[in-house]
Amino acid sequence: MENEKKLPLSLYGFSPEMLSGILGLAKPFYGRQIYKWLIRGASSFDQMTDLPKLERQRLSEMMPSFSSSTVETTETDESGASKLGIKLFDGSIIECVLLIDSKGRHTACLSSQVGCAMGCTFCRTGTMGLKRNLTAEEIIEQYIHLTRVSDEPITHIVYMGMGEPLANIAPVTRSIRYFHEENGFNISLRRITISTCGVVPGILKLSEQKLPVKLAVSLVSADNRTRSRVMPINETWDLPELKKALLRYQRTGGKRFTLEYCLLHNVNTDESAAKKLATYVREMDVVVNLIPWNPAEGLPYETPSEQEIDSFAHYLDRMNIKFTRRYSRGREINGACGQLAVPLNKGFDA
Ligand code: SF4
Repeated sequence: MENEKKLPLSLYGFSPEMLSGILGLAKPFYGRQIYKWLIRGASSFDQMTDLPKLERQRLSEMMPSFSSSTVETTETDESGASKLGIKLFDGSIIECVLLIDSKGRHTACLSSQVGCAMGCTFCRTGTMGLKRNLTAEEIIEQYIHLTRVSDEPITHIVYMGMGEPLANIAPVTRSIRYFHEENGFNISLRRITISTCGVVPGILKLSEQKLPVKLAVSLVSADNRTRSRVMPINETWDLPELKKALLRYQRTGGKRFTLEYCLLHNVNTDESAAKKLATYVREMDVVVNLIPWNPAEGLPYETPSEQEIDSFAHYLDRMNIKFTRRYSRGREINGACGQLAVPLNKGFDA
């Protein structure tokens, strides 16, 4: 019993040496073999055919190699997105999305928490509240589930699913190091993006670590009152504090970030909003991504018209702000930013 308690949820997130120790393997090189099978997506010890049969049997009785399962797959929509519902060991459901763009990039969009405590008012996940943090194993397993629906290798990872990654920073960074491992998935850190609503201590912590991933910061407004109304986190870490942390992040090892500006009809799209944004981004070497709000049932916003978006872009252009216009992928399957959520009675009951 004592040993059972010490077993992890699954085998993802561990080096070959650690696997050897955790599983009490008869020969240390079995750890390397198991690690390789895991990277290839093996879902049971039975598939690890280069291990002796007796060892496979012993391991199967000891623990499952996977802690989660796919419960729902939404067909790929026209934009190239497919969404998976994943059932965790405690019955909670989370979602992750595979995005395929016109350049052929295959991106895994991963969740970091069950629900989210941040309460951004434009986001469906924000309406769920937080049930719990995900472990590194649970984060990595989402990636494996997505490789099974992907016709080609996954090239990019974004932590933009359910939850605020920087509110669960230790498992998130552990999963990133695992994805980056040269003998494993070997995904470049430049191809990994953490999305945050502006958790300042998390940004500062990240800037201290040797982990030059990209950061996508959800800004929504450069006006403190408006931002506090839309994103309650602004009451804790307001715009000047956020800016200070971002400048520090940028100065530490030239780390890159973008500002995500979710366009909300009649909230943040007029000329004065553009002027405030221009003042805010001064001194920052940054690109602002304009993303029209993805409609989500029950939320009090509207997507701006093309004309409204054009005029906002025009204001920014006049003020020499570097920006891009993003077109949301995954909208048809409710898999776009701010649309991930599962009904409370489905996601929160074990
Ligand atoms: Fe949480 Fe992100 Fe949604 Fe905000 S936008 S509520 S941080 S999941």
